[in-house]
Amino acid sequence: MMPLHTDNLESTMRYALLTTRAIALCPFHPEVMIRVGDSDAETHAYYRARSITKSDGTCWEREDLMEEIVRQLTDAADGVCPRCAQLVASHN
Ligand SMILES: [Zn+2]
Repeated sequence: MMPLHTDNLESTMRYALLTTRAIALCPFHPEVMIRVGDSDAETHAYYRARSITKSDGTCWEREDLMEEIVRQLTDAADGVCPRCAQLVASHN
């Protein structure tokens, strides 16, 4: 599991997305994030991120969280790791 840096929005949201299993890391390519496609988990991730407090005791703003969750889910691969898919395709 990646360390959680509560003062970093990207880190906070990634932690929330991973721990709620809204996104998963490819076991063969740990740098690849895969969007599982579970909308309940994604909602849960948003609320988890919203409950994480920064070192000054405040929480992240709703707008910032919404923007960041959309960004990370959009950046993530859809359902399958593209590098694994490419490997499989090259062996066929
Ligand atoms: Zn992979």
